[in-house]
Amino acid sequence: MNIINVNSKDTMPELAVKMCYSRDDFTHIIINRCPVFLVNKKTMDLLAPPYSYQTYDANCISLKTEEVLKRLEICVNENENVENPNYENISKIVNSFWDDVGSCSMQDMKKMPVCGLYINKITTNHLDIIKEDKISEYLGSEAIFLCIARIIEWESKSSFTSMNSEIDISVLISSVWFHEATHAWMKTSKKIYTQHWGYIIEESLANAYCSRVTKYMLKHNVFNIESELFLHTKLDQQPFPYSSWAFWEEDMNGMVQLWRDKDQYRVKLPKRARRIPLHYVRGRNTDSVVDQISDLLDYTDKIKNINNTELMWKLLAIKIVNWCY
Ligand SMILES: [Zn+2]
Repeated sequence: MNIINVNSKDTMPELAVKMCYSRDDFTHIIINRCPVFLVNKKTMDLLAPPYSYQTYDANCISLKTEEVLKRLEICVNENENVENPNYENISKIVNSFWDDVGSCSMQDMKKMPVCGLYINKITTNHLDIIKEDKISEYLGSEAIFLCIARIIEWESKSSFTSMNSEIDISVLISSVWFHEATHAWMKTSKKIYTQHWGYIIEESLANAYCSRVTKYMLKHNVFNIESELFLHTKLDQQPFPYSSWAFWEEDMNGMVQLWRDKDQYRVKLPKRARRIPLHYVRGRNTDSVVDQISDLLDYTDKIKNINNTELMWKLLAIKIVNWCY
C-alpha cells in the first residue's frame, strides 16, 4: 500500500493497513494500483465539499415509491400476456419516477462527515487545491484520499462503542478505505453516478462491501463481534443511500462485478444476479410487483438491449428505496 502523508497530523495505524490487506479479492489490485493520500480536514473539504452529498426526504420519497409501485402493479395487471411484458409502458412509469425523485433530494452535511474520497484522475485543479509538492508527481493518476482526523472524530461521536477505541478507529479507517476501493474498482461513469438510481446502487454497494469485510475479519479473529456491531451502527447512522448497505448484506456475490460491467450492458446477466431481487421479499405486498417485473426481465430472457438492462437497474434501485423507507 503506497501511503503518502500529504498534510495529515495523524498517520495510518498499522492495524488499519493490515485490515485493508485482509481480503483476497479485487481490493488487492486496488492496493497495488491506487496510492492513498492522507489529508487534513480542510483539504478534504476543498476536495469534496460536504454539500455534494445528497439524501432524500423520507416522506417525499416513500410517497413517490408507493405511487410508482401502484402504477407498476396496474400496468402489469393490465397486460394479459405475461410472457411479453409491455416494456415501453413499464419504462415510462419507471423513468418518470426517477425524473421526479429529484424533488425529494436534499443536502445532508451534518450526518455525513467526509472521511474518504476516490478520484479517478488527479488534475491540475486538484494540485492547486492541495498545494503540496509531493502530490504533483501523481498528476493523471487515480487516488484514494483519507482524512484520519475526521475518522477519529467520527469514532468519538458514537452512541455505541466496543470499548476499544484503538480497534474501532482502525475498523473505521479500513472500512472507509474499502468503500473507496470499491468505487475505484467499479469505476462508475459520472453519467450514471449523477442519476439518482445510479447513485443509490453505487453507494449502497460500496457501503455493503465494508460490512463484508468485517465478516471476513471476524472469521480470522482480526477483531471481535463488538467492533462489527460498532461498524454496523456507524453504517446505519449514515443518510440514505449509504444506510441501505444491509440490502446487499447477505448476498452480494457478483453484484460488485456486475455493476462494474454495467457500461457494457451485457446482453445476459449472470443467473445469480438476475435472481437477486427475488431474494429480498420483505413481506410488503408492493415488493412483489418489482419482483414480478424483475422476474419477467429474467425468465423471458428479454434483456437484449441497453434499455431493458438499464430498466432492470432502475427497478432494482426502486427496490432498494422501498426496502429502506
Ligand atoms: Zn461513496
